[in-house]
Amino acid sequence: MANSKFEYVRNFEQADSLLPNTWIVVRVDGRAFTKMCAKYEFEKPNDRRALDLMNAAAKAVVSDLPEVTIAYGVSDEYSFVFHKSCSLFERRASKLVSTVVSTFTANYVFSWSTFFPDTPLSFPLPTFDGRAVCYPGIQNLRDYLSWRQVDCHINNLYNTTFWALIQLGDLGNKDAEKTLAGTLASDKNEILFSRFHINYNNEPEMFKKGSVVFRDYELVDPESHRVADEMDDIAEPARPSKSQSDKDRKRRSKARVVVEHLDIIKDDFWNRRPWILS
Ligand code: ATP
Ligand code: ATP
Ligand code: MG
Ligand code: MG
Ligand code: MG
Ligand code: MG
Repeated sequence: MANSKFEYVRNFEQADSLLPNTWIVVRVDGRAFTKMCAKYEFEKPNDRRALDLMNAAAKAVVSDLPEVTIAYGVSDEYSFVFHKSCSLFERRASKLVSTVVSTFTANYVFSWSTFFPDTPLSFPLPTFDGRAVCYPGIQNLRDYLSWRQVDCHINNLYNTTFWALIQLGDLGNKDAEKTLAGTLASDKNEILFSRFHINYNNEPEMFKKGSVVFRDYELVDPESHRVADEMDDIAEPARPSKSQSDKDRKRRSKARVVVEHLDIIKDDFWNRRPWILS
C-alpha cells in the first residue's frame, strides 16, 4: 500500500515482545483502593461484596482470554498467568497488559451494581494498573503464586486481629497497631482466641486463601499423575503444533471457568489438575 510521508513515525515504536517460552504473569492492582474502601464504605477487614466483584471481573477476563491458564486474586489485586506457549499479540507486553487491565476494569465497572446494589458508583471511578513479568520455569511460577498466597495469609491474619481489636476491643488505630507490633502469627491467633473467642481457622476460606480462577475439567487421581517438573521441561521443550494449540484453545474456551479458594502452595492442587501447567 502506498504510504504517506508521515508513515516513518511508526519506527519510533519500541519492540516489547516478552521472552519466548516463559510463563507471563500480568498482575492488576486497584488504584488508591485505600481511599475507595473509605468512599464506598467497604466492610473491614474484608468486604465480601468487593471480593466477589473482583472475582467476577477476573472470571470474565479468563473466559475472554483462553490463553490465561490460571488466575489468583487477593485484596484489590489479581494475577493472570499466560501459558508459556502463548502467542497472543505476538507476546507484546503493552498489548497483553493493556488488554487485561481494560477487560478487567470494564467488567468490574459493569458488574458493580450487581454486587453493590445500594451503592451507586460515582467519581473517582475504580481504575487498575498492570504489569507483566516473565517466569522461566514452573517452579518460578509456582513460587510467584505461593508468594501472593502467603502474602494473603499474612495480611489477613494481621488485618483480622487488627480490626477485632478495634471493632470488638474498642481500641483506637494507634493502640491496635501498638498491640500488634512485633507479634508472631501464634500471638495473633492467641489474641483472637483468648480476647474475642475467634478461631482463625474458622474464618472464611476466601479471606484466608484468596481466590483461584481456572478451567475445570475432570479431577485427576493424584497418585496416577504428576505435574511436569523442570526436568520434563528440559527433556521436552517442544511447543505444541499450531493445529494442536488451536484445538487446545478451542477446548479451553469451552470449558467451565470456576472460582475457588484453595491452597495453591502445596503440590496437591497442581497434581490433581495437571492440565493447568501442561
Ligand atoms: P495503590 O494505588 O498504590 O495500589 P492502594 O491504596 O490501592 O494504593 P494497596 O496496597 O493496593 O494500596 O492496598 C489495597 C487496600 O485496599 C488495602 O488496604 C486493602 O485492605 C483494601 N482492600 C482491598 N480489597 C478490600 C476488601 N474487599 N475489603 C476491605 N478492604 C479491601
Ligand atoms: P484489533 O483488535 O486488532 O484492533 P479491530 O477490529 O479493532 O482489531 P482496527 O484496525 O482497530 O481493528 O479497526 C477498527 C475498526 O472499527 C475499523 O474497521 C473501523 O472502521 C471501525 N470503526 C471504529 N470506529 C468506528 C466508528 N465510529 N464508526 C464506524 N466504524 C468504526
Ligand atoms: Mg499498586
Ligand atoms: Mg491498590
Ligand atoms: Mg493491592
Ligand atoms: Mg482496534
